[in-house]
Amino acid sequence: MAVVLDLHGDPIALTAALVDIPSESRHESRIADEVEAALREQTTGFEVVRNGDAVLARTDFGRPSRVLLAGHIDTVPAAGNLPSRLADGILHGCGTSDMKAGDAVFLHLAATLADPAHDITVVMYDCEEIEASANGLGRIERELPEWLAADVAILGEPSGGFIEAGCQGTLRVTVSATGTRAHSARSWLGDNAIHKLGDVLARLNGYRARSVDIDGCVYREGLSAVRMDGGVAGNVIPDAASVTVNFRFAPDRSVEQAYAHVQEVFDGLDVAIELTDAAAGALPGLTRPAAAALVEAAGGQVRAKYGWTDVSRFAALGIPAVNYGPGDPNLAHRVDEHVEVSQITAVTETLRRYLTG
Ligand SMILES: [Zn+2]
Repeated sequence: MAVVLDLHGDPIALTAALVDIPSESRHESRIADEVEAALREQTTGFEVVRNGDAVLARTDFGRPSRVLLAGHIDTVPAAGNLPSRLADGILHGCGTSDMKAGDAVFLHLAATLADPAHDITVVMYDCEEIEASANGLGRIERELPEWLAADVAILGEPSGGFIEAGCQGTLRVTVSATGTRAHSARSWLGDNAIHKLGDVLARLNGYRARSVDIDGCVYREGLSAVRMDGGVAGNVIPDAASVTVNFRFAPDRSVEQAYAHVQEVFDGLDVAIELTDAAAGALPGLTRPAAAALVEAAGGQVRAKYGWTDVSRFAALGIPAVNYGPGDPNLAHRVDEHVEVSQITAVTETLRRYLTG
């Protein structure tokens, strides 16, 4: 099959070519074949390997630092928005911003950087848009862990021109009250568990969440009731009730510290607290040299990342990681998904400056 991806041409055209190869999660073999062929034939100095429907390429120039450029090649199911369509400086179509524009920038740079200041690893992976257990980056971590070694990792997810770094942690607790059942016609004989949760809600209402600045990223915490359970029947004083509370916490707290904080918030109330699930946050790590240079190249535009993303996967490996890619993150997965092509050019130029030092 003829190679349809021209890595040396304009990354805008390359984005369109990638978008026009449909690649819903679990159906990435064709796009992976094309990306693999293009990397093998159109780059120099890169070792290329295939892992499932992921393609990895890296240089070994002996540079003092290594920058990893990672992008997922899958998309959510198309919604009548393929093939791509370019109009008035905007490229429309499934996967344009999430995240084939980012992929195109990375592939173009791999083919065209003449004398990079860093060694470069490119990771194009499958199955990011579905359950975490299928994630291609997770598989690479298990099967080719040495390929993920880097001083900084850049994920080309749409980030609106900002460098989005770190992520908040999350934990959930069940706060339960117990009482004594009775007929509600003789309520004084019972002890109402639901009423006891009033104090829990009052503490949540009065809670003042922190905003924490770490490396120029502001993390705004939140402690919220997300569910309530309780009640037996319309004529029964309930003997059990609970509220599920979700704490989104800045990455300067560990899970243990965050849990201890939540226990403190409800201190002195007649309730039992049980931790039901937790995921650690990730510090942005932007003060490390390889990351700091990237922030500088991008004009200091940084902000916190709130949700859990593959950035956290690198952070867990001790590698500072950021999202930085063309497109508006709010457009991902929408029928009218699109990317302003000027952003593709801008991100390419910023990364070219950064990677050539
Ligand atoms: Zn994405």
